[in-house]
Amino acid sequence: MSFSDIPVPVGPVYEGERIRAKQMYVELGGPKVEKHFELVRVKQPKEIKDGQVTIHGPDLKDMKEGERYPIGILVEVAGEQLEEDLEAVFERRVHEFCNFVNGIMHLNQRYTNWMRLSKTAYEKGFNSLELLGQVLIRLYKAELPIIKQAQVTFYTDPKDIEEPYEMAMQIYDKRDERARTIHDEDVDMFYGCVLCQSFAPTHACCITPDRTSLCGSINWFDARAAAKVDPKGPIYEVPPKECKDKLAGEYTGVNEMIKKRSLGEIDRIFLYSGMEFPHTSCGCFEAIDFYIPEVNGHGIVDRNFDGVAINGLPFSAMANQTGGGKQMPGFNGVSIQYIVSPKYQQYDGGIETIVWMPKAVKDRVGDFLPQDLVPKIATEEEVQDLAQLKEWLQEKNHPIVETWAEMLEEEEEEEYEYEEEGAMVPMGTVGMTIPGVGGAGGFKIILKNCKVHAEAIIIKKIEPKGKRKK
Ligand code: SF4
Repeated sequence: MSFSDIPVPVGPVYEGERIRAKQMYVELGGPKVEKHFELVRVKQPKEIKDGQVTIHGPDLKDMKEGERYPIGILVEVAGEQLEEDLEAVFERRVHEFCNFVNGIMHLNQRYTNWMRLSKTAYEKGFNSLELLGQVLIRLYKAELPIIKQAQVTFYTDPKDIEEPYEMAMQIYDKRDERARTIHDEDVDMFYGCVLCQSFAPTHACCITPDRTSLCGSINWFDARAAAKVDPKGPIYEVPPKECKDKLAGEYTGVNEMIKKRSLGEIDRIFLYSGMEFPHTSCGCFEAIDFYIPEVNGHGIVDRNFDGVAINGLPFSAMANQTGGGKQMPGFNGVSIQYIVSPKYQQYDGGIETIVWMPKAVKDRVGDFLPQDLVPKIATEEEVQDLAQLKEWLQEKNHPIVETWAEMLEEEEEEEYEYEEEGAMVPMGTVGMTIPGVGGAGGFKIILKNCKVHAEAIIIKKIEPKGKRKK
């Protein structure tokens, strides 16, 4: 496979490249553009013109520098061994393959896709989506040899994108609907995915029927199909083995998987908790589940929400805290589909601990949540700060209110707070992993026998109290 006719270099080393607003020539999709999508469809060979790239709307050279445009990417593929279940898995590779191009930054997936083209790439001659289409076609066929033919269609015109966008939304809904038909106890195999390790080296997703991948793109059926056709690929089988805690979703097989795939950094995961041994988060999560200590409840904010969440933080600030492959109790990357799972963060109290979410998310998941709870969950339209949220929860008699008395009692009883002035704290040996640019492995800094001087140390317990269903 050669890219000698492409004016910029192409390869995995460019994955992870960041293009800031000042460096970009144009932006395609993203939170400020209404309709955008990416979709892969499996077709019959006779329906494909192998190597064909079609552009509906302005091409890159017709776009105004510094502007934003819609982007629809439809990749159609054919091959004897292909089946519909593989579409979502192929679709996730759009992210990876676009990022192989030096000068393109691709984020997210499905209808949240977001791309930037750098000024440098444009000046070097990367001025047509035809070039990107050719890169995608060559990479799809080379990296996934079961794909024998491929064609790509781009939509950049706000009118032309409408019909394919609606089609894509219906297909995503159909996939999600099917995913809701089975549960973890119905299967004897889970799946893992390490596609995001170039961005988050210690992250690996564990995909189960009740916990769709946090990017929302790969459900249990998709992962099963991918592991079947390429068992040594980035999506692989994870035998759950012994269930150590049903409520937490702790399985010895999942712990072994994460220990191996995070190179020993993480050795324990509770699949259904955002507070204790939470699932790691890369950076592709559709939403963040965050703890709100002031009300002992949880909020959910999705990446399309461009305001400030009820805790005073925008999505971007919480995303920095959540992602990177860390286990961050209180901030957990989740998919929208997982929110409607009956096992949603059940170890922390489940869906009944959710007190706030953006209106758009509530509209999307409301039909699948307990109907008596839905009117009790506040959105940005009803409350603007924590004081208003407290009032709302009391007024609506949200189930979280029952935990407040218990919480206060516990706080009075427990002398949990510890404070010391001017402390020198021996930290022993501390390690931190710095991811490499473009997935080049990165490096680890180890501070041996370090001591940290702090003016005061305050230790506060932040785990939720009184809502666990045992
Ligand atoms: S978020 Fe998880 S499932 Fe989705 S591509 Fe990344 S590693 Fe795979």
